[in-house]
Amino acid sequence: MTLVKQSRDSGLKRRKFLVGAGVTAGAGALARHLPLNVIQPATAADPAPGATVKTEIKHTVCSHCSVGCSVEAVVSNGVWVRQEAAFDSPINMGAHCAKGASVREHGFGEHRLRYPMKLVNGKYERISWDQAINEIGDKMLQLRQQSGPDSVMLIGSSKHSNEQSYLLRKWVSMWGSNNCDHQARICHSTTVAGVAQTYGYGAMTNSFNDLHYSKAVMFIGSNPAEAHPISMLHFLHSKELGAKMIVVDPRFTRTARFAHHYVRIRPGTDIAFVWGMLWHIFENGWEDKAYIAARTYGMDDVRKEVAKWSPDKVTEVTGVPEASVRMAAEMLATNKPSSVVWCMGITQHHVGTANVRALSILQLALGNIGVPGGGANIYRGHDNVQGATDVGPNGDSLPGYFGLAEGAWKHFATVWGVDYDWLKSRFGSKELMEKPGITVSRWFDAVLEENQYVDQPSNLKAVIYWGHAPNSQTRLPDMRAAMQKLDMLVVVDPYPSMTAAMHGRQDGVYLLPAASQFESTGSVTASNRSIQWRERVIQPLFECKTDHEIMYLFAKKLGFGEQLVKNIKVVHNEPVIEDILREINRSCWTIGYTGCSPERLKLHMEHKRTFNPTTLRAESGPCKGDYYGLPWPCWGTPEMKHPGTPILYRLDVPVSEGGMAFRANWGVEHNGVSLLAADGSFTKDSELDTGYPEFDHVFLKKLGWWEDLTPEEKVQAEGKNWKTDLSGGIQRVVIAHGCSPIGNARARANVWNFPDPIPVHREPLVSPRRDLVAKYPTYDDKAAFWRLPTLYKSVQQIDFAKDFPLIMTSGRIVEYEGGGDETRSNPWLAELQQNMFCEVHPTDAARVGVKIGDFMWVETPTGARLKIMAMVTERVPEGLVWMPFHFGGWWMGEDLEKHYPEGGAPTVRGEAVNTGWTYGYDAVTMMQETKVSLCRLVKA
Ligand code: SF4
Repeated sequence: MTLVKQSRDSGLKRRKFLVGAGVTAGAGALARHLPLNVIQPATAADPAPGATVKTEIKHTVCSHCSVGCSVEAVVSNGVWVRQEAAFDSPINMGAHCAKGASVREHGFGEHRLRYPMKLVNGKYERISWDQAINEIGDKMLQLRQQSGPDSVMLIGSSKHSNEQSYLLRKWVSMWGSNNCDHQARICHSTTVAGVAQTYGYGAMTNSFNDLHYSKAVMFIGSNPAEAHPISMLHFLHSKELGAKMIVVDPRFTRTARFAHHYVRIRPGTDIAFVWGMLWHIFENGWEDKAYIAARTYGMDDVRKEVAKWSPDKVTEVTGVPEASVRMAAEMLATNKPSSVVWCMGITQHHVGTANVRALSILQLALGNIGVPGGGANIYRGHDNVQGATDVGPNGDSLPGYFGLAEGAWKHFATVWGVDYDWLKSRFGSKELMEKPGITVSRWFDAVLEENQYVDQPSNLKAVIYWGHAPNSQTRLPDMRAAMQKLDMLVVVDPYPSMTAAMHGRQDGVYLLPAASQFESTGSVTASNRSIQWRERVIQPLFECKTDHEIMYLFAKKLGFGEQLVKNIKVVHNEPVIEDILREINRSCWTIGYTGCSPERLKLHMEHKRTFNPTTLRAESGPCKGDYYGLPWPCWGTPEMKHPGTPILYRLDVPVSEGGMAFRANWGVEHNGVSLLAADGSFTKDSELDTGYPEFDHVFLKKLGWWEDLTPEEKVQAEGKNWKTDLSGGIQRVVIAHGCSPIGNARARANVWNFPDPIPVHREPLVSPRRDLVAKYPTYDDKAAFWRLPTLYKSVQQIDFAKDFPLIMTSGRIVEYEGGGDETRSNPWLAELQQNMFCEVHPTDAARVGVKIGDFMWVETPTGARLKIMAMVTERVPEGLVWMPFHFGGWWMGEDLEKHYPEGGAPTVRGEAVNTGWTYGYDAVTMMQETKVSLCRLVKA
């Protein structure tokens, strides 16, 4: 009998229960650390004699990476006493990694922010919520008056639920600015841009589970054994069934040790490598000719570029021998279906979007998109980075990727129930309303840059960090200088984050305690687009408030509280999460966030066990026929009962069952060539047996399907298309005829609107190979790009290699997540990895004179000096060092502990590698460069 069962049956007393659960010592230790005046009334006190203990199991989702593992939280009289493995989940099937296994720590949170604080003469002082909202709000209103709404930057979070993310984008819109962003900018914005512009949607095409069908998988710039550990279970299952495994990475990672074929590549040469693979594929006729002819556009242009990449050139640029490139190509091309998995090793480059496109094209050439076991599988970072990207605070789009054009604003004005002209009046101008905002990767340049070069009326004067770690961004000395120049810096977070300690200010900083996701409820979208519902596990600790309550309180103070919640009920200052999701359901037709009502999502969570762990389809029970979490697009209204789309662009099943075509997003022809799918290429049961454009009211009438709409639907659908018809009637009718609302088009191998329509190799900005810079130069500098001047050639022209001989790169470790404040404050995880380290090859270590455990200085071209422990290992090749990016709390040799609010410093602190990262931004999305630069080592 399990402990939980015992307690349920016997009404076990709390004290005895805690002893049994092995948490008494932890609870005692916690009590010693908590100032008594911030502990809430003890709802979990020993029950009165004869009373039973109320023990419940709450179903929630791990809040770390994007795999989406379920957690069953055992709550006894309001205290989170234990977590159980969720064996019922088709995603994790009872498994957790170290991070997921220790999320109960959120129920204690010794290092958490406990009450609002304000920096006074260099010390944090406790203030009330009223004071915090009033003072911050007054300052914002003053800045708005003096400098306009664009003087404020809002950095949101990929850890917010979908509903909080959506509300935050709405909040910023009503404040009157597009200066908002979140972590996706610096993890997968290049993926979203590259994949969306090639296939139609910016998301992983298949699922973790779908790897069961793969015959070969190439992991490139991806280390799931550490970054997405539970996803590895699915792949290892596939490997047991015979799948081949290729790992391409400069470092011999924990993932690489499972590989049949490991390829050590020079950082920053992925396009040359992929073209090298395609060279062999085309040479041997391994490409899928029928697929290319029917479903792609521009592959001949790719052939021309690939033809330049003969094996000798590939080896010269990438450092990979010809035989190794050929073997990777053959393994992937002759063991089909095959999948490609990538992560930040691909995305975080100044050519990140081009890297992504090269891989997307590789999978098109092999006909691997739209098939089980194939796909472009992009493992995202945080638990809701996909959802926050889909519906949250992006500076270039409204929720659902609607963009910022007038039509998009009018669509949301209608959904939000506000007047478009009122919305417009909130912005500095209509032009600013339709111009992409400043990115999180560069906000500090918008503070420091001369005003004449910033493409908005004012420099930034206030920044709100809402659930985002600053040490996950590059160029920290510049960020610190900008923090000092700001009028106000606000942190809203469950943990103080390194923001609280690194700024070097005496005043003008506020810390507001946010509740964690376990103290809230709402939906979260895993990397595979499955949406899961989290139950609230415990009430917010201390004086913490949920993010959506904080948004509402600020909106009231700032004068748009009523507009923010026009269609949303508010209970005790908390906008009701279910109502927010219903608003998302009513608005986000573009990506099919419309069928996933709160009721359907809750039903899925409750009946997880009925879903097949390979197909993700429910085989019985009340969700029968649905795919787990209704992976988007889940077309139409909830009443339409679309099952979700587990595999994007699949033609061999009807759209009503999760099939779909490539999206007709770029018109019907380009330069006289059709962009629509060829005759005979269509989704199963489609009444149209050829390519067709996206659906609108005109097309529907031409086809004679208009009469299928109800009279009420006709009223709403008139003049609209599949994205803006709020009735959902167009989607319903189109799908009833077996068609795809998004059209039936070709994927684009040639993206003519990008800086490189066909990806070309460009040497890294800070390249060690000066001999290759002239041959493969970067882009010209740009005067105004996401509102800022952006340098390329003028950085690349400087020869840093003579003084900084080692290539520097970075990545993840399994113990920590993101900027790491939360996980480095978790005692169970802190114990596992106590020091920031730098992997260095034995030959380089001997040159510097360091051995394992010695401190050394890692010096970079920015002038930064990082004091880091040496990890001498052959995991890295000679000439390259590797560092994890989750550490923080030191500043160039100094421990910042005393600068955190009392008790708020994480247990494990160390240098943030990003302190030393050099300049470099992707030419499409402003993704920061963190995968290739230069450094030198000096013994400390
Ligand atoms: S961190 Fe990721 S892999 Fe680990 S338990 Fe959480 S969701 Fe699963």
